[in-house]
Amino acid sequence: MMPTKIALVGIGEIARNQHDPSIRNSDAWELAATVSRSGSLKGVEAFTDMDAMLAARPDISVISLCLPPVPRFDYAKKAIAAGRHVMLEKPPGATLAEVHALQRLADDAGVVLFATWHSRMAKGVAAAKAFLSDKQIDNVHIDWQESVRKWHPGQTWIAQPGGMGVMDPGINALSIMTEVLPMAVHLTGATLRFPENWDTPIMADLTFTQDVTASFDWTREKDEQWEIHITAGSDQVTLIEGGNRCLINGEETSQTALDEYPALYARMSDLLANGTSDVDLSPMVHVSDAFTLGKRINIPAFDF
Ligand code: NAP
Repeated sequence: MMPTKIALVGIGEIARNQHDPSIRNSDAWELAATVSRSGSLKGVEAFTDMDAMLAARPDISVISLCLPPVPRFDYAKKAIAAGRHVMLEKPPGATLAEVHALQRLADDAGVVLFATWHSRMAKGVAAAKAFLSDKQIDNVHIDWQESVRKWHPGQTWIAQPGGMGVMDPGINALSIMTEVLPMAVHLTGATLRFPENWDTPIMADLTFTQDVTASFDWTREKDEQWEIHITAGSDQVTLIEGGNRCLINGEETSQTALDEYPALYARMSDLLANGTSDVDLSPMVHVSDAFTLGKRINIPAFDF
């Protein structure tokens, strides 16, 4: 079968480190163009303007948007208007309403829209979901604590409006939580800590119904952790390493075969074959609720 031609838009950290190798290492895809104001990838036709790429390359049927959330909407709208299928990096938008708008546009245009959640593809998530599917959950605690200085040096957009601050990594945990829990929960309280030079929180403590809690911290310089602990009766399910390992009652479970980003592109191939979109906004609803309901605490400036 001929590979599907795809363009990558927003050539930064995640496009270079994950999207580019995942596409190039797959027979199903051909990386046919990039759009970025300053970035490009070796051996790939590079455009600096989205309209110019869409006009010049009608043969490219899929556009994968790797921009930060705030600028991403306009690019998605243009891609859909040009009849292209679209993949959105997480979080799928700066607001819920703009993603609803994209869903309507994609439906009307008859194109596939895939709001990706890479952490749902982490290798231990499917095992946790399968085990928990018929369980009564007693409590859940999430610790998602890492160093923003280590992972995001100079990425100023994360501290600006719409950048979401620590909710940017935290939403990865929430994407796993909403995937593996057999019941729906909703947020009942949040405490958000804002450095005085940030418009977004750097720490967040969240409380949900049914004894579910989460602690997100972007100031953790050592002992970083990305863990979810779930108690169901006498059973204990622990997801560690960002969901890539699942321990059930202390026993390591078997893992899915593909890494997160190759799995996202395999999923997009399936969606294209079936002509269906996949847009689940439940992780983002929790983030939005935390901004609506959360108590704000101001803390000293934090540079990164
Ligand atoms: P990034 O490197 O800071 O930005 C990606 C690219 O987007 C930039 O290189 C830039 O390319 C373009 N861009 C930035 N602001 C723009 C604007 N206002 N208008 C147009 N283009 C703009 O960000 P990233 O870390 O790759 O993150 C991008 C998305 O991927 C985010 O939603 C993030 O949550 C998600 N993600 C990131 C990681 C990670 O570890 N970094 C992991 C998983 C998912 P040009 O300047 O060349 O146009």
